[in-house]
Amino acid sequence: MKVAQKEESKISNNIWEVALEQLSLVAKKMNLDKNIHEILKSPKRILEVSFPVKMDNGTIKVFTGYRVQHNTARGPAKGGIRYHPDVTLDEVKALAMWMTWKCAVVAIPYGGAKGGVICNPKEMSLGELERLTRRYASEISIIIGPERDIPAPDVYTNPQVMAWIMDTYSMNKGYSVPGVVTGKPISIGGSEGRNEATARGCVYIIEEAVKNLKISLKGVKAVVQGFGNAGSIAADLLEKEGCRVIAVSDSKGGIYDENGLDISKLLNYKKETGTVAGYNQSKKITNEELLELPCDILVPAALENVITKKNANHIKAKIIAEAANGPTTPEADEMLFKNKVMILPDILANAGGVTVSYFEWIQDLQANFWNEEQVNNKLKEIMTKAFRSVLEISQKYKCDMRTAAYILAVGRVAEAINLRGIFP
Ligand code: NAD
Repeated sequence: MKVAQKEESKISNNIWEVALEQLSLVAKKMNLDKNIHEILKSPKRILEVSFPVKMDNGTIKVFTGYRVQHNTARGPAKGGIRYHPDVTLDEVKALAMWMTWKCAVVAIPYGGAKGGVICNPKEMSLGELERLTRRYASEISIIIGPERDIPAPDVYTNPQVMAWIMDTYSMNKGYSVPGVVTGKPISIGGSEGRNEATARGCVYIIEEAVKNLKISLKGVKAVVQGFGNAGSIAADLLEKEGCRVIAVSDSKGGIYDENGLDISKLLNYKKETGTVAGYNQSKKITNEELLELPCDILVPAALENVITKKNANHIKAKIIAEAANGPTTPEADEMLFKNKVMILPDILANAGGVTVSYFEWIQDLQANFWNEEQVNNKLKEIMTKAFRSVLEISQKYKCDMRTAAYILAVGRVAEAINLRGIFP
């Protein structure tokens, strides 16, 4: 085990720099105390681990993983675990900081964290993934726990991965600890509605936004980038609300049908083939072209930095609902604001996932489980309240919704730091 900060190569659009810039912009706007700004600029704790895994062919491969806790002033750290070949420490730090803001925007009592392992799960067998997960869970077990830091799924991790983490942590404790992770399968302490929560929360926010713009969701054209947990369920829910989902994509490419795709047929196609690409009742489209399609609502639901100064002026959507974390760079933000595009920022639009994770954690700690209707009603209440608070701030400060969400979130975290004071 190593506790260290890795030297990062300077890349343009480094998302840690983006996260710091977003914080600086809002600190200036809200006149944030310099000392609080200084505290918030650095993650509270960074753990880097290198660990061996026995591969199926008998060789041993050494993997690198991270767990970063950005801030815990408002409660235990909370955030997902990402498995991806491009994971970097800077990415994990940015995602951890965004979790701090996200939990504060929806007013749930958590700080922010994130984890990641540099690996390509698509090239690994189930056995290899299980061994990698159990070893990574053991390595980070020194800083996670139900009262300390509670992981959850993110890109290319899922309920099965969470089940292995829960089991590994429990085996080492000698008793079952379901509250150590969220996003688990329902049979071992998961919550009803968790799987759909990120997308459902995003759709609740879209509904509030269109209500505010005095338009209806019926018949509006939606485009979704990414067809995993967040994207595919968002596409499905938007279609159920009456939207015409005209294009979707995944890492293998995109598809387009001006008359609207049949999302349930597409979900089956993806289940059979592993991708949406090649779906025969549609035109082929690249991920870049997809973002620039004429539509009303654009939902980026894949990775970060996809809307940049290069394509921002070509985006025709009226609303961008960020199901993904960090899809828009600050320069693109500015351009889109000038073009009167309403951005529903990630820390608000995709907070449904962590909100139902919070419900799951409460249910695990109390060993008392809710039904799906209870979960969805409570989720809607929290998301709607957060949207209205952010909108009110955006009107008061005459700023975009991201800046408003940051003012709300940073203000809440700053208040907690001030009240707790500086130890010792
Ligand atoms: P996922 O692994 O289920 O799906 C990711 C999707 O993105 C897949 O369809 C993949 O093919 C696609 N993709 C990958 N690279 C791509 C590329 N270059 N171009 C287009 N598509 C690409 O992951 P997810 O959980 O749906 O997460 C997606 C985004 O939502 C991430 O930014 C994640 O941080 C964010 N998010 C997820 C949750 C959650 O609860 N799952 C919560 C909050 C935010």
